[in-house]
Amino acid sequence: MLDNYYTTADYAKCNSEFPKKVELHVHLDGTITHKTAWELVRSKQLPLPGNGTYEDFSKALLITEPESLHHFLSPYKYITPAYAGDMAANERIAYEYCMNAAKDNIIYAEVRFSPHKSLGEKEYNRLGFAGLEAVVEAVIRGIERGEKDFGITVKVLLTAYYGWSYGDQFEVLKLCQKYDKVVGMDLCTKQPDNGVSDEAPVTAELLFLFEEAKKTGVKTTIHAGEASGPKAIERAKDYYRCDRIGHGYHAVQDPVIYKSCLEEKIHLECCPWSSLLTAAVKPSDSHRKHPIVRFAEDEANFSLNSDDPTFTGKFINGDFILAQSWGLTKEQISQSILNAALASFLPENEKSKLVKEIASTYHLKY
Ligand SMILES: [Zn+2]
Repeated sequence: MLDNYYTTADYAKCNSEFPKKVELHVHLDGTITHKTAWELVRSKQLPLPGNGTYEDFSKALLITEPESLHHFLSPYKYITPAYAGDMAANERIAYEYCMNAAKDNIIYAEVRFSPHKSLGEKEYNRLGFAGLEAVVEAVIRGIERGEKDFGITVKVLLTAYYGWSYGDQFEVLKLCQKYDKVVGMDLCTKQPDNGVSDEAPVTAELLFLFEEAKKTGVKTTIHAGEASGPKAIERAKDYYRCDRIGHGYHAVQDPVIYKSCLEEKIHLECCPWSSLLTAAVKPSDSHRKHPIVRFAEDEANFSLNSDDPTFTGKFINGDFILAQSWGLTKEQISQSILNAALASFLPENEKSKLVKEIASTYHLKY
């Protein structure tokens, strides 16, 4: 079990050292607080783990043993039925993310979710594409309320999954093209039951999808090099020509691919706590440097993000504190925040304002 408890003083120190943060990799349905999930699950009379108490429920959502990505994502079985197809719940989760992100001094975030997953199969069968639009609009409503109440800026990325039908994947792209609030598309692994992932497989359909995204100005990011090896990163950036890579830790295993990531300055959205709890970086590798430490030392273009606070038990400050415990300096972490601002999918005029603000906060050049 990983020792993952931080005090209020730890969080306050992190907020004073890093007064402005940017988050690029966080799954909206992985940000639900245990209390909100509990309320939703109870109101829908869904099955509960353990003895049916809040304590058992909260324990089931929190991952403390690094086993596999499959294991890390397993609590979704309790929470997905709690929000799928429920527009008010989707709006609430988006609003509450803004509140919690602002508490950790995030000034800009890109939050991602799968419209199909948030709508659920039952409602999708009933409403089709109009249902997907409704769920995206519910999330946008929650974000817009949150932006106003908490003084934060939040944009949306929509997630498609490897292994989905081409029709479903294309619907995600269509939604990305439709809404100004949506600034990019994410491609994610659908976890098979055996837990073995093959990230960013090359298919004619996905190649066409990414080509269409590029042609129509939709920015893209691909989960790669998390559960699988460096070749997935190569496929993501060289075949799909994505703008950013989700995770990318295993780049360091292949000197040629790693060198190309450094030379091309491809942005790697790193997530410290989930990298351990998914066993993407295995405890048995602890005698080696964590890839994020390598990225910092080699001045790779990386950022620090929270991924799934529901399962790690902490929002972004926890990830910053963990990275500091590995020896990342204040300067390296400040640079990672500027990297995130520079790699954001904001329209150019908004991005240059954000970049200036972060650079002047941390006295950095760019
Ligand atoms: Zn992710």
